[in-house]
Amino acid sequence: MSSSNNDFLQALRQLLGPAQVRVGADAAAFERDWRKRYTGRALAVARPGSTAEVAALLRLCAAHQVAVVPQGGNTGLVGGSTPDDSGTQLLLSLARLNRVREIDAANLTMTVEAGCVLQAVQEAAAAQGLLFPLSLAAEGSCTIGGNLATNAGGTQVLCYGNTRELCLGLEVVTAAGEVWNGLSGLRKNNTGYDLRNLFVGSEGTLGVITAATLKLYPQPLARMTALAACDSLEAAVGLLSLAQARAGSGLTGFEVMNAFSLSLVRRHFPQLVQPLPPSPWTVLLELSDSESEAHARALFEGLLEAALEQGLIADAAVAESLEQSHALWHLRESIPLAQSEEGLNIKHDIALPVSRIPAFVTHTDAALQAAFPGVRLVDFGHLGDGNLHYNVQAPEGQDPALFLREREAAVNALVFDAVQAHGGSISAEHGIGRLKREELARRGDATALDLMRAIKKALDPQGLLNPGRVL
Ligand code: FAD
Repeated sequence: MSSSNNDFLQALRQLLGPAQVRVGADAAAFERDWRKRYTGRALAVARPGSTAEVAALLRLCAAHQVAVVPQGGNTGLVGGSTPDDSGTQLLLSLARLNRVREIDAANLTMTVEAGCVLQAVQEAAAAQGLLFPLSLAAEGSCTIGGNLATNAGGTQVLCYGNTRELCLGLEVVTAAGEVWNGLSGLRKNNTGYDLRNLFVGSEGTLGVITAATLKLYPQPLARMTALAACDSLEAAVGLLSLAQARAGSGLTGFEVMNAFSLSLVRRHFPQLVQPLPPSPWTVLLELSDSESEAHARALFEGLLEAALEQGLIADAAVAESLEQSHALWHLRESIPLAQSEEGLNIKHDIALPVSRIPAFVTHTDAALQAAFPGVRLVDFGHLGDGNLHYNVQAPEGQDPALFLREREAAVNALVFDAVQAHGGSISAEHGIGRLKREELARRGDATALDLMRAIKKALDPQGLLNPGRVL
């Protein structure tokens, strides 16, 4: 280690206390991403406990020209939250900034620190009889800072929007170590450029989010959940239109799963009951109601009957209790884990206009089979907001790691060309990180990329915040 690194670490220990600076084996858990695709080596892991400590730490990094990789729950899927292997980047863990600062029930807002785990935020809201509606399978570990930095989506976007729509204000530490206090519970505030929306989705490359003011909602009085079997994706899209027409904003979940993704759940988690026999597509739909249980049930059952009559669904299983509803969601949420048990695959988190999804899938499935015979498609996602996880698994019996290494570039080119031809986006909710940086440079709008580079230069002139990610 160079003497300047030694000076830096000594100053860091003085700032945070020795226990909050980890090196060597103590840093290992922070250095590898959730998918086990990226393993790096950090100069150290720093665990500040307050916004003031984060600011002092960034001033120290600026003075020593040390690059910083912010990390929340480390559940990100694009390689944004772990250091490279140079051993020179400081990993900044926000985990100790985990206080709920305020809940303002009358204003329907809460202010929380960036390291709060999403589930803890949901629970704090629920304890006041309120709802924080962001929900995703990683909610037991991901943090609100990470959710904001990636503009996470999840399962209720069709009703409540992405994390961006759930955020009213931010507190951010800049690359120079200054604190911007933009915490505000205002729903109207047109006072110049929207800095909040600049930092949301910036993946740690423009500033470190230390706290946020979030929108809350009344808890619905009743929820109805069901699985429905569809013979085709066209039928699933038809069911979505019918559900939106009948339930309006009461439709809070509409997920789709192809037969192969549920077969992986059956193979790796045989203990999970699947109430419907296998069908080409299975939809998980949920309706939330603020009137009454009886009203919700009548609406839901009427919807499913109409869908059966119109031939949109072949069968349905309605959850009769909260427990059964959780079990249905658990099936859907087990797909990412089941596919990681099956081995590495080539992931595509894509967005398309809902109306174009059936044509996209028909065309791209056929093109992939022609180019890579036997590939298996783990195709599932948030159909209600046009977001598919269109993941390509090696043919049965082939080494998944080898397939990934040898075929990833060609598979990506085929899939992303099709996404662009159908008017879609190469990243719906996971972000760019390291995984899609070159793809963004290749496919992004040239003017947009120039503007992004100019913003990055203005906010982080030394290029110390999460270098090598996004741009
Ligand atoms: P991390 O992984 O720690 O970091 C993610 C990025 O944000 C990195 O670039 C990091 O540098 C930056 N960052 C983290 N904290 C801060 C901060 N305080 N300030 C500035 N930058 C910061 N995502 C979805 O959108 N929808 C889903 O449905 C979904 N499902 C998932 C299911 C599973 C099983 C898993 C493992 C992941 C899933 N994800 C999903 C991806 C992931 O959970 C989200 O991206 C989440 O928002 C990341 O939060 P985190 O705290 O783990 O962030």
